Amino acid sequence: KPRRCLAQHWLKSENALNNLIKAACCELDQDIILEIGPGTGILTRRLLPLVKFLVGVELDKDLCKLLVNKLGKKENFLLLQGDFLSLDISSTLVNLSICQQPNKVVANIPYNITGPIIEKLLGRISQPNKQPYELIILLIQKEVAQRLVAEPGSRNCGALTVKVQYLAECKMIASVPAEAFYPKPKVDSAIVSLYPRKICKPANNPKQLEALVKLGFRTKRKMLRNNLQSVIERDHLIKLLEHLQINPHARAEDLSLQQWIKLSNKIC
Ligand code: SAM
Repeated sequence: KPRRCLAQHWLKSENALNNLIKAACCELDQDIILEIGPGTGILTRRLLPLVKFLVGVELDKDLCKLLVNKLGKKENFLLLQGDFLSLDISSTLVNLSICQQPNKVVANIPYNITGPIIEKLLGRISQPNKQPYELIILLIQKEVAQRLVAEPGSRNCGALTVKVQYLAECKMIASVPAEAFYPKPKVDSAIVSLYPRKICKPANNPKQLEALVKLGFRTKRKMLRNNLQSVIERDHLIKLLEHLQINPHARAEDLSLQQWIKLSNKIC
């Protein structure tokens, strides 16, 4: 029986499975896939014949037993039981004498920890000893997907949009209705692709950029110059915005990623 506390919703739609697999552009001779939460293995089973190796991380012990029984012995499959958020996959693989490291992520993730999962997956960009993933394909709540891919000026653009788009190029692949799962969740879903950036124009201080964006979006309806009053004097900010060719009446959602980076580099 699916466990609600682990956000277990089994995917049952062929169409959604096909879209996930197509988006991953699997290459049999080189792709090492990380799947977070393989669950009953519906996606795992479809991916295994298409990839060189697959590492699954599943928190539910009972499901792990079930999955190993169900899939039988597979040369190119490793199942790790544990919490994805606290597991260091790279060192776990090294400790198991597996020299291959995942280059792609494909997963129907537990929605209750979407933010921390994305943060951890993209966090590799700033870790000098870790290779960023080439491609991340996720099935997530549609509302979150819309925020990830939002354009400047759109209603869905928020602090999460800027934070994630700074690290990755985000694309909407397909909508997935709630009926595609058992049990049916309360919300619709969507498949997104994230291509981690090899950042060409980084902010001078990414942590301060993140803090500035968070503050800028604090009261969404207010103009940026009002939200940022605590970090920069109003007249000074207006001059700065004009210098950067940003409308002084702009709200946080109106700024492009490059404008946020320029503003942060000037202020911080
Ligand atoms: N991949 C399966 C499918 O598509 O039907 C299951 C997807 S279900 C939405 C999410 C899966 O993530 C469940 O199997 C759940 O047990 C697992 N899970 C929940 N929290 C987890 C965590 N912190 N680390 C790893 N797996 C987790």
